Order: sequence, then C-alpha cells, then structure tokens
Amino acid sequence: MSSEKSESKAADSSTKQANCLFCSIHNKEINAPFIYEDDVAFAIKDINPQAPTHVLVIPRQHVDNVAKVEDRALMGALFYAAARVAEQENLGDGFRLVVNTGADGGQTVNHLHIHVLGGRSMVWPPG
Ligand code: AMP
Ligand code: ZN
Repeated sequence: MSSEKSESKAADSSTKQANCLFCSIHNKEINAPFIYEDDVAFAIKDINPQAPTHVLVIPRQHVDNVAKVEDRALMGALFYAAARVAEQENLGDGFRLVVNTGADGGQTVNHLHIHVLGGRSMVWPPG
C-alpha cells in the first residue's frame, strides 16, 4: 500500500464513523443547519430542546465520548466553542454545559457532544 493511500484511510476513519448520526450531520448526509462552526467543532440546535436555548457542540472528528478522548486539547477547544455559542445565543445571565457519558450518564448518541442549555433558571441536582 502506498503511503498516500494509508494516509487517506487514516483520515477517513478519524473523521467519520459508519452509522453515526453526528458524523452524518457533519458530512451533510442529514440536514441540520450549523449555527456555529470552527476548525474543531460545529454546533446544531437540539431536535428535542430541554430549555429555551439548547445547542449541541460537536467535534468534527468522531470520538465516542469524553471517556475515550486522548487528545486533551480537544476538550479545551470544545469548551471554548461552547462558550462562543453561549455568547452568540445571548446567554449572558448564565447557562449550563452537560456532557452525558455512557449508559448511566444518559448518553443516547455515541459521538461526543456538549449540551449548551440556557434561557431559563436551571435546577440542581439534575435528574
Ligand atoms: P445525549 O442524549 O446526551 O447523547 O444527547 C443527544 C441529543 O441529540 C439529544 O438531546 C437529542 O435530542 C439530540 N438529537 C437527536 N437527533 C438529533 C438531530 N437529528 N438533530 C439534532 N439533535 C438531535
Ligand atoms: Zn460520529
């Protein structure tokens, strides 16, 4: 195998996982307008909002969840993007970031994402 081929294979597997909803949205196979994007992440409105503002910040690269992250800088870039989304959505009075992880954490889409929730007072503890 040529080095060119192995490089492109590596790029494919790092950016797309078969049957992954958020990879399909990233690749525009499923329509969901990006309300924010940068070099690392994109953001879409949650289809089932739990607050007046409910946005998902999603890495372009497929990673199952935060427990599987090896690149520490990725999490910094995602939280930075979440803060930019909160700013863009006028959540200056406050907001909540949620990272559901695994079955007990309530994760339903196995592609890492940060929920940005705002526009109302949050309660604690969460359910
Ligand atoms: P989680 O349960 O933490 O894995 O979050 C997955 C989120 O994705 C849920 O809040 C869903 O409402 C949301 N969701 C599922 N399908 C779509 C879609 N097609 N577009 C936008 N959000 C979606
Ligand atoms: Zn994915």
